[in-house]
Amino acid sequence: MLFVIPLPAYNPAFFYTMEILRNISLKKYNTFGIDVKSAYLTELSSEKELPYLLNWIEKSNLPYYLLSGGSNVLFVSDYPGIIIRVNMKGIQKVDETDDHVFIQAMAGENWEDFVDLCLKNNWGGIENLTLIPGNVGTSPMQNIGAYGMEIKDSFHHLKALELKTGEIKTFNSEQCRFGYRESFFKNEGRDKYMILSVCFRLSRRNHVLNTTYGIISQELEKIGVKQPGLYDVANVIRSIRRSKLPDPAELGNAGSFFKNPLITQGHFNTLVSEYPEIPGFPDVSGNIKTAAAWFIDKAGWKGYRDGDSGVHKMQALVLVNYGKASGNDILSLSEKIQKSVKEKFDVNLEREVNVVGDFYS
Ligand SMILES: Cc1cc2nc3c(=O)[nH]c(=O)nc-3n(C[C@H](O)[C@H](O)[C@H](O)COP(=O)(O)OP(=O)(O)OC[C@H]3O[C@@H](n4cnc5c(N)ncnc54)[C@H](O)[C@@H]3O)c2cc1C
Repeated sequence: MLFVIPLPAYNPAFFYTMEILRNISLKKYNTFGIDVKSAYLTELSSEKELPYLLNWIEKSNLPYYLLSGGSNVLFVSDYPGIIIRVNMKGIQKVDETDDHVFIQAMAGENWEDFVDLCLKNNWGGIENLTLIPGNVGTSPMQNIGAYGMEIKDSFHHLKALELKTGEIKTFNSEQCRFGYRESFFKNEGRDKYMILSVCFRLSRRNHVLNTTYGIISQELEKIGVKQPGLYDVANVIRSIRRSKLPDPAELGNAGSFFKNPLITQGHFNTLVSEYPEIPGFPDVSGNIKTAAAWFIDKAGWKGYRDGDSGVHKMQALVLVNYGKASGNDILSLSEKIQKSVKEKFDVNLEREVNVVGDFYS
């Protein structure tokens, strides 16, 4: 059902109306393909709609949830408030020097389209982050990372709307408090700020390529590329990712369900004595970063299936929806995995995916 709510009379400065859809299935709006409903949903396509939206939220007194590509969320119940799809588009060059270019993209730009645009223009800094689903505006949320690169490495600043006050604020890298799959916006700033645009500082020449992670350099060697450019690195990563990760269009998933755990050196040493093959790398915190997938696999969960929820058969870190799993089916499977990894290895697996709704409603 389509509702067009008229512009409130007391706010004559904005000749905008927003379409507020009612009782909408969220199945196509989340890559897990969970079929829950939201009481209301709106697509925000211009900053000019913001005053109207804020007004609507205040007057309705309903909860709201920001949603972009829906590739890092798990809905576990119907949503009683309004889902706000952040959809503003636009990309512009805001500055340049001989070595760098500063590119600002609106939150609703698709991340992979943005990576592609940068590659076409020979702008370096995000090529290893190719094929990560989602939008530009959400990339700082968990400081997206892959293949030895994170967005914090080429992030310059972002603009975000404080939803309570309607004020637009600028955040630099330090204020974003980026960490491993973490930021201010995933913690204290969660649900308080809507990221509107992100500005990146990208190299125009003398690109610093990162080919040391995983099998990137081996794959480049295999195809005979001795002096790789941005495209070579991106293309190799694209083919590695395609061979390893399930495509959400074919099998519902949200990528890695858990973060890679950090454990103390002592704990790691104890585990190594029993499992010499356990992967682990020193972290800046002084702890050891291990691989969540290894623990899940070793605990026997890889390829596990219960009804329509399961653990991917090639990638133990990815929980999947074979069709009709509910959010609670996936959540309860994730909790069983956490419990068994804790019991077997005394390791806590922390969720990377954002769970939305009333748990076990
Ligand atoms: C197959 C697959 C592979 C993946 N691989 C990776 C990977 O390699 N590395 C990685 O880091 N991630 C990966 N992910 C996870 C996901 O793609 C990223 O986290 C992505 O940035 C999420 O973007 P989104 O637009 O889909 O966000 P959503 O899922 O829509 O939202 C994520 C969170 O951000 C909040 N949010 C949404 N929009 C805004 C906004 N404008 N302002 C403030 N908050 C907002 C939401 O409320 C939610 O809490 C993968 C996912 C899939 C499905």
